[in-house]
Amino acid sequence: PDNHLFDAIRSALPGLEAIFIETHDGRVLTYGDMLSMSAHLAHVLATRGVKPGDRVAAQVEKSAEALMLYLACVRCGAVYLPLNTGYTLAELDYFFNDAKPALIVVSPHNAQKLADTVRGCGAVLETLDEAGGGSLMGAAQGAPAQFSDVRRGSGDLAAILYTSGTTGRSKGAMLSHDNLLSNALTLRESWRFTAGDRLIHALPVFHTHGLFVATNTILVSGASMFLLPKFDPDAIVERLPRSTVLMGVPTFYVRLAQDARVNRDSTAGMRLFISGSAPLLAETHETFRARTGHAILERYGMTETNMNTSNPYDGERIAGTVGFPLPGVDIRVVDIDSGAVLHAGETGMLEVRGPNVFQGYWNMPDKTKAEFRDDGFFITGDLGLIDERGYVHIVGRGKDLVISGGYNIYPREIESEIDRLDGVLESAVIGVPHGDLGEGVTAVVVPRSGAALREDEIVAALGDRLARYKLPRRIVIVDELPRNTMGKVQKNLLRDTYKDLYT
Ligand code: ATP
Ligand code: MG
Repeated sequence: PDNHLFDAIRSALPGLEAIFIETHDGRVLTYGDMLSMSAHLAHVLATRGVKPGDRVAAQVEKSAEALMLYLACVRCGAVYLPLNTGYTLAELDYFFNDAKPALIVVSPHNAQKLADTVRGCGAVLETLDEAGGGSLMGAAQGAPAQFSDVRRGSGDLAAILYTSGTTGRSKGAMLSHDNLLSNALTLRESWRFTAGDRLIHALPVFHTHGLFVATNTILVSGASMFLLPKFDPDAIVERLPRSTVLMGVPTFYVRLAQDARVNRDSTAGMRLFISGSAPLLAETHETFRARTGHAILERYGMTETNMNTSNPYDGERIAGTVGFPLPGVDIRVVDIDSGAVLHAGETGMLEVRGPNVFQGYWNMPDKTKAEFRDDGFFITGDLGLIDERGYVHIVGRGKDLVISGGYNIYPREIESEIDRLDGVLESAVIGVPHGDLGEGVTAVVVPRSGAALREDEIVAALGDRLARYKLPRRIVIVDELPRNTMGKVQKNLLRDTYKDLYT
């Protein structure tokens, strides 16, 4: 066979008896099981009429079987399209009609409600629940345990992954076999994965972090993972002594850093804690290090690009930075207006090029064209800088830049100052329509528990730290910031909530 991604997985196979997954209830799936289950499912897909290049959509709870469905798609040449379990029926209707899958797998409890939609877009419907029950695995039972993998080249699509929708409607990023494989191999080397590793997997499997960063890296290392249904400190603490690596979003680490059971002793067997998908506060990094002795390794990626940068495995992991461009990945910073390449230390738009960068947005040729430069660089939408030592710093998203009175204001700078104040847990700075200024700088601030914050005191405290034009016009005190499942602060919701603040 010549299946670009699956051949690499086969060649990393540590032995059929080696463990691939141990589920939360102690079920063990070996690499041999991985081969036979993905073969069973590949047969099911083929008999249901799924042809190479067809999309297979899945909105299912996290399970080992969901990962096997992904691998079955890779093997039969289909394009795997996982969907956030939080999507409503109306949203699913949009995604199904946008992607036109040949087969759609949903949770049994949604099957009835979705039957018409699925039929309407011409797809076959199957079900899968979190315990591996449902019609899909039922159909897989009689299927052969061997499957001859469909030929797929490096540029053929393996998946369409929708972005998190933090800044607007999710876009479907088309990812090729080599987009996924090249990044998995790079991460294996950069993070020193071997067959001896065991990952604690507590991330969702519909997002690039849990699906590709975690699962593909484990597969090409022949390593194993504890597959947990969701983030649960008890479950993680219990697995720490038998694990080597944890991958998490910053909110995991905020919680774990407050847990007395997470300490030097309990993490002595762990070699690596990785964070990404949203900015990790320097404070979280420091607290976690003081408590465990481990410096969390922060990295930066996107659905469209897989992983772009990482703090070093050996060498200094600097809090507040996302580290160096990964091997084979080019990153540059350009002026937002002119597009001119900037020097070290200058803030602008981050652009990235490499084998990790996607093939374009599904069904959005104009958007795709607009986000690529002629020389192949993808415009990430993230603002940042590369310092003298080569570390990349992210200062926020282009869409979150506040333009007030003609000045560009980077929210991150103001948030850092606010977060340093006594009694502040965290903050989000946004631009809100303002009659005179265009946008008014607005801070949404969460107090530490028990702290009483006052708007005028915060403004006064910021007064000698920030230039006048950067000072928030208004400060709103709230209990918590709106976050999505990946722990990302949803500034678009905040902008909407406070849109009339200055009118
Ligand atoms: P959408 O593109 O639909 O608005 P999204 O950008 O949040 O949603 P993802 O592809 O899941 O969707 O997230 C990628 C973004 O996450 C990056 O562009 C960046 O803004 C942010 N991000 C990822 N890792 C980090 C990090 N370590 N530090 C800061 N931001 C990060
Ligand atoms: Mg994005």
